[in-house]
Amino acid sequence: MSLFTSLRSQSPAEAPMQLERMDAFWKVYRQENQAIAQVVDIKQSKLVDKEFDVIVCGGTLGIFIASALQRCGWRVAVIEQGLLRGRAQEWNISRQELNVFTELNLLTEAELEQAIATVYNPARVGFQGGKELWVKDILNIGIDPIYLLEVLKQKFLDAGGILFEQTGFKQATVYDNGISVEILPKRSLDSGGTESIRGRLLLDVMGHFSAIAKQARSQVSGNLKPDGVCMVVGSCAKGMPSKPYGDLIYSFTPIQRQCQYFWEAFPARDGRTTYMFTYVDADPMRPSFTELMEDYLFWLPKYQEVKLEQLQFERFLLGFFPSYKQNPLQTPWHRILQVGDSSGMQSPLSFGGFGAMLRHLPRLTDSLNSALAGDWLTSADLRSLQPYQPNLSVTWLFQKSMSVAVNQQIEADRINYLLNVTFTEMEKLGDRVLYPFLQDVVQFMPLAQTMLAMSIADPVLVIKIMKQVGGGTLLDWLKHYLGLGLYSGLNQVADTFAPAIANLLPEQQYQWQNRLTKWRYGSGGDYHKSLAKTCEKFPDVIDDRPTTKMETTEKANCGADSQ
Ligand SMILES: Cc1cc2nc3c(=O)[nH]c(=O)nc-3n(C[C@H](O)[C@H](O)[C@H](O)COP(=O)(O)OP(=O)(O)OC[C@H]3O[C@@H](n4cnc5c(N)ncnc54)[C@H](O)[C@@H]3O)c2cc1C
Repeated sequence: MSLFTSLRSQSPAEAPMQLERMDAFWKVYRQENQAIAQVVDIKQSKLVDKEFDVIVCGGTLGIFIASALQRCGWRVAVIEQGLLRGRAQEWNISRQELNVFTELNLLTEAELEQAIATVYNPARVGFQGGKELWVKDILNIGIDPIYLLEVLKQKFLDAGGILFEQTGFKQATVYDNGISVEILPKRSLDSGGTESIRGRLLLDVMGHFSAIAKQARSQVSGNLKPDGVCMVVGSCAKGMPSKPYGDLIYSFTPIQRQCQYFWEAFPARDGRTTYMFTYVDADPMRPSFTELMEDYLFWLPKYQEVKLEQLQFERFLLGFFPSYKQNPLQTPWHRILQVGDSSGMQSPLSFGGFGAMLRHLPRLTDSLNSALAGDWLTSADLRSLQPYQPNLSVTWLFQKSMSVAVNQQIEADRINYLLNVTFTEMEKLGDRVLYPFLQDVVQFMPLAQTMLAMSIADPVLVIKIMKQVGGGTLLDWLKHYLGLGLYSGLNQVADTFAPAIANLLPEQQYQWQNRLTKWRYGSGGDYHKSLAKTCEKFPDVIDDRPTTKMETTEKANCGADSQ
């Protein structure tokens, strides 16, 4: 009997179905010839009435941008196929990333505090055979998505926003002056009777597997297969030994099944969350979720120093995050833009899509507000809102060096060894190098310093990694690395353009603003302002660890992750 099956009495009833469904989806997803539904078409004529300025399809992160644009005075509708409701599992994030909610007036300070379910410190970074690093205030806040989405939804409705819940997006037609969206309310499922609403702009916030994003990718690159996939299995369970600290990334096993397993752990309101994740590709030979779950349950007792029989699983967590070298996705259509996971605006290493959304929300809100005001909604205008970001593209080298191809032979401890060298050198270089990297922000100088330090510390390893990732990846990386240098330089001198931009025509001003924003975000220049607030190292952690006091909010019950 599998470990997963043996835990039936300690697990939610729906767990086996959840695993089965995920595996069925994962199997189909890896097939070469995926069907591509044509959900967007174009008509060269004009729409007469448009009842909305913005139609947001997909409500999870969609409600964030919908609320922000509504606050700017636009008529916004949200279409959500289910109920607009957050998931039970917390989203982990760093504190300063949350300020965007109050800065954009989406939440009051009190509401934001209420949304924080857990707070812990410190977090560990460690790889088998190496030294452990301890960091503070990184991804150490657990946000309660149920509360967060409920508050945003109520405020959106109170301010006159229109929400179509239990209503699926079916089809969109782009006209010269607007967009018509066909929707299928659940009540009409039997009859198949769709309705249509019209607006000026459609935001596709339907996640990684959005039908619009799929059609867009097939048009833009013809390639639907992702270049990389991060697979995640995990759980939130009661009965774990109480530990005040979390793990940001931790490994304690060599490569197995052509996968290097990494772990994350956090105190959670319902117990302790643990994830096991691995960087792979979409090859059909890759393990199934059932196999990964067995490995997760096999290693979990060693990882958390607990017996499986002691655990009560509140929920199992499964997911995979496809990523493409051509990210962010560039919309091929006028009046349609991808936002959130569908846009691919996070690195292939991260599965923090909520965090990525918050980082980009201020610039997206500003730019979309200007675009709507000026009616600059052509595909070229919108592509400038999800531009090429060299700091995302350079991370492909890391993705490749942290994964093993299905037929590749490398030493079983290669990835652990590489990461030990990398993080040791980063730590020596200081917080300004280590902290942004751990928050999925890569910058030119810190990267240059790390690469140089690694080449000096272990030149043989660097040569081995070059062989492991291959010449194509290296050349590609070099191109993006030079791009990162260029963007960093341009971002440094961006302020000198400001007086000249003020004298331009409005549309030119808008284009220049987008260019400046592109350099700032594409070089990781958006990060430095907030760093000062968090850049404090956990002092002498190993000795202090047992007495470290975990911070908790009043309602959080992080200390009770043992029972
Ligand atoms: C196990 C796991 C752990 C994670 N942990 C973190 C974390 O700690 N921190 C973090 O920042 N991120 C985390 N993430 C990532 C985060 O959950 C996602 O980035 C986020 O949910 C993306 O939101 P989205 O709205 O873009 O896409 P989705 O979450 O995929 O939501 C898409 C929405 O669109 C709706 N939709 C889809 N199709 C249609 C349709 N045809 N019509 C109408 N509506 C439709 C769906 O119902 C859904 O509401 C985690 C993800 C997983 C799986």
